[in-house]
Amino acid sequence: MALTQQFDSEAFKDNFYYEGEDLGAVYAKETTTFKVWAPTASQVQLVFYEDGDKGNRKETIAMISSENGVWSTKAEGDLHGQFYNYVVHTDEIREAVDPYAKAVGVNGKRAMVVDLTQTNPDSWEKDQKPLFKNFTDAVIYECHIRDLSTHDNSGIINKGKFLGLTETGTTNKEGLTTGLDHLKEMGITHLHLLPSFDFQSIDETRLDSNQFNWGYDPQNYNVPEGSYSTDPYSGTKRIEEFKQMVKTLHEHGIRVVMDVVYNHTKLSEDSHLNKIVPNYYYRMVNGRFSDGSGCGNEIASERPMVRKMIVDSVVYWATEYHIDGFRFDLMGLHDIVTMNEIREKLNAVDPSILIYGEGWTGGSTPLDESERALIKNAPYLNDIAVFSDDMRDGVKGDVFIDNEPGFVNGLHNMEETIKFGVVGSTKHQQIDYSKVIYSNEAWAKAPSQAVQYVSAHDNLTLWDKLEASSPKTSQEELIKMHKLSNAIVLTSQGIPFLHAGVEMLRTKGGNENSYKSPDSINQMDWDSKTVYTSVTDYYKGLIAFRKAHPALRMTTEEDIQKNLVFFSKEKDTPLQLSYDNFVGYIINHNANGDRLGALCILFNANKKDKEIYIPKGKWQVYINDAEAGNDVIETIEGGKVLVKGRSALILGRDDAIRLSI
Ligand code: CA
Repeated sequence: MALTQQFDSEAFKDNFYYEGEDLGAVYAKETTTFKVWAPTASQVQLVFYEDGDKGNRKETIAMISSENGVWSTKAEGDLHGQFYNYVVHTDEIREAVDPYAKAVGVNGKRAMVVDLTQTNPDSWEKDQKPLFKNFTDAVIYECHIRDLSTHDNSGIINKGKFLGLTETGTTNKEGLTTGLDHLKEMGITHLHLLPSFDFQSIDETRLDSNQFNWGYDPQNYNVPEGSYSTDPYSGTKRIEEFKQMVKTLHEHGIRVVMDVVYNHTKLSEDSHLNKIVPNYYYRMVNGRFSDGSGCGNEIASERPMVRKMIVDSVVYWATEYHIDGFRFDLMGLHDIVTMNEIREKLNAVDPSILIYGEGWTGGSTPLDESERALIKNAPYLNDIAVFSDDMRDGVKGDVFIDNEPGFVNGLHNMEETIKFGVVGSTKHQQIDYSKVIYSNEAWAKAPSQAVQYVSAHDNLTLWDKLEASSPKTSQEELIKMHKLSNAIVLTSQGIPFLHAGVEMLRTKGGNENSYKSPDSINQMDWDSKTVYTSVTDYYKGLIAFRKAHPALRMTTEEDIQKNLVFFSKEKDTPLQLSYDNFVGYIINHNANGDRLGALCILFNANKKDKEIYIPKGKWQVYINDAEAGNDVIETIEGGKVLVKGRSALILGRDDAIRLSI
């Protein structure tokens, strides 16, 4: 279509790129300035409303076409709390919410002018991010706002709300911690929240009906979701409460990651973006919305003003809300230039902000493969990590084939995939990359580019997957597999990522796409913590062990190559292995400043116990099939050691080992 060609012409880019930082409603006590980019409009009006939902229009102001396609106007007086929209005349006359809206009314249908200083909790200016040095020091925990608190047994008052994450001292009926205290107890460093910007699927006027949605249906990118606030009608409450949540989490040593969904919007033809500049914000194929997201459309991040909108939005969350990390949904739909620009702009705010994303798309896209922020293009992404699907499926089986197992539940020939996970998808001399399930070469420039995980909100929970892929297997055996799965994740190089509740054997009853299933399927059942205390303790111990050992958190490929040696069936290797379904390695030389000279990490995926020879000398056992942590379980002599079936055995020693490889 001609319009699309026009958008991509050099003349259009030259004439209609607006670089100002003042799009949207810029509030000051005496006057508010409104600017909206609408280069194809013949007229734009600013309309004021009596309230954020119903109410009448009370004023219409003609905006003036100014520079680079921007329409602007000023309005006198203190406009804090004033609801407004834009009426844009293109081929049609359509009313839309400001893409730069910082506050909205209920259901996000009208923007609101906001004095953001009035939304800050007490001593917000003193809010401090918890210390965090290297990306590989992160332990990420992925959670939905509702899931954490909606269960009757959570002990949390503000169920399903941002404020639910500010409550301390909450317990289940056995007195075990829940909510925020539980997160602290687990020792995670980053809480990753499923979409918490304003999404469309929940009717915010009917909150007592307890609707559930993951929130991958964006509506207003720069505003928190109303259903998670205590009053979605108030334009400021959701902002105040979101900030309060961030501040409280920071006070308790936890950083906050937002799941961001700039790859598509809920609506296509009728989205606010499309009403303002028809067809500009989306990739079109033959005049139709391309659907690389599988959700009806895909956003054209490569177009300059779309890129700017995304970059501005991310920077806004990082600065206004003190967000510490961003997880990009379907990042493979974003172009590499945009992602690297986000990194650059966030570095100016705080270089410790994490960026990671899904290095794949949800369908076919016209964006050239070489330009997509895909896993295979990770070498072109700067300090941006991607989820490792090799790790995810290698450990416990394909996410799309329920009954297919992986390493821990009995699939053969998975050793090289596990080893690939262990080294954080970097290049290592002892890995046969041709045997790795998806990637045939290293893609991470550094381990900090690999997000290591076995389960997330998508697909079956780890427990449900193990049950589906191992029928007729006892609960005891399934628990062994479960613990081994995340023992691998939490000792591997890279950035470990846990699905909320995995530490209590979370189940969704076999539901593999619970995006709009009721709370009863999605919520975390805090009684599981009582039933599976030993599992929760094991996970807690794994996290504590990781945090105590820099050797598990190396920052460079060279360090890994130098210090990490696998047990191998090859002749002439110092660490001999003589059977299958077993991965073992030693991290030597007080790697990355570790207090221990060497760690020996052994994963036996066989149902039977296995013996293996480890270097001679005094070793301390820290993790075995039953326990995990920083306490020494026992001290043993090297030589022949027994690794129980389907378990990890992790040992350490004070001195480094002489190994010739
Ligand atoms: Ca909403």
